[in-house]
Amino acid sequence: MHYTLHITDRCNLRCKYCFENKKDNDLSFENIKSILDNAVKDESRRANITFYGGEPLLRKDIIYETVEYCKKLEEGNDFLFTYQINTNGILLDDEFIEFAKDNMFHICYSIDGTKECHDLNRVYRDGQVSFDLVNENAVNLLSKYPYVTAMMVTTVNNIQHFYDSVKYLFDVGFKYIFCGIDYTSNWDDESIEKLRKEYEKVGRLYIEKTLNEDSFYLSPIEHKIDTHISKDKICELNCQLGLKHIDIGTDGNIYPCIQFVGMQKFIMGNCKTGIVKEKQLELMKKSAKEHEICKECELKNRCKHTCGCMNLMTNKDPNKLSPITCEIERIIIETSDKIASTLYKKRANMFIQKKYNKIFPIVEIIERSKRNGIKSGEKV
Ligand code: SF4
Ligand code: SF4
Repeated sequence: MHYTLHITDRCNLRCKYCFENKKDNDLSFENIKSILDNAVKDESRRANITFYGGEPLLRKDIIYETVEYCKKLEEGNDFLFTYQINTNGILLDDEFIEFAKDNMFHICYSIDGTKECHDLNRVYRDGQVSFDLVNENAVNLLSKYPYVTAMMVTTVNNIQHFYDSVKYLFDVGFKYIFCGIDYTSNWDDESIEKLRKEYEKVGRLYIEKTLNEDSFYLSPIEHKIDTHISKDKICELNCQLGLKHIDIGTDGNIYPCIQFVGMQKFIMGNCKTGIVKEKQLELMKKSAKEHEICKECELKNRCKHTCGCMNLMTNKDPNKLSPITCEIERIIIETSDKIASTLYKKRANMFIQKKYNKIFPIVEIIERSKRNGIKSGEKV
């Protein structure tokens, strides 16, 4: 199970597309302890803890305390906790990087790409731009700890920078990039067309880098290529409301996904009671509902049409599909299919290894560890 702990609603930025509420609430350590005490009862013997906000590094103390508590729970319970943090990077210092390394954190780092792109939306409360510091901290982080995913957001006002931004993030040293879309933006025909063109350029970049034998992951294209290769495979990014992932709000309540935090009617339990099974089942049934227009669509296993949180964002209803979702998903799938066909026909070595050789991710981690001077058996 993945647990996303919203440890604070506070944030030092005011990104223009942000959906988080900007209240001053914090999640108490007592509530975190209750969640973790319940987590170790899970039969799988492992759990992933994501520190989320607002900006979680505003509460470094509680992150340290939580990891300490997890270690104690691991000792007596034959249990493994893994960790992730989603941060805007403003407060990321060497001390935290060392701590993240020691505890094998996966860091999701919010940066939208080039300065022109990033500064359009990622600003402080007073409107000051944030790129210079975020970029400097990213470079420092990557030099010390490469296990970082760049989280970029594309929206209507920065779409013209999409290709340049993906390229910039690769050039700066990110190997993993997640291209998020702000589905709530006012996507009209013109901006959808721009997105299509930018995706075509990104597709060509993907092919070029693969032929060049660069090792990288670019989501969601990777997932769509996987479903191109295995037609019956369901896209891993698809939503399973409240089944494998839950969010714990600063109010101590449990929600099925980030978008639902703070909404009374989606509460699935709280830190003390744990998940209320009936409520969880009810939400899962809703998220699995197929829309009429999707029933006959050949892309239905590959598309996010059943994603309850995205539907909620775009239509205020977890069961109502937005035409924008359909258009954007088609652009990403078409681009991915073109990439996959081209690279398959060329029998591109890196592509065949990455997509058809099951042990490739392991080999790649070992290779990368060597490149970063980390010896076998040492913590990375
Ligand atoms: S950094 Fe994240 S939480 Fe803070 S304003 Fe930006 S999007 Fe919202
Ligand atoms: S591509 Fe459109 S019609 Fe097809 S499954 Fe996705 S949302 Fe439905």
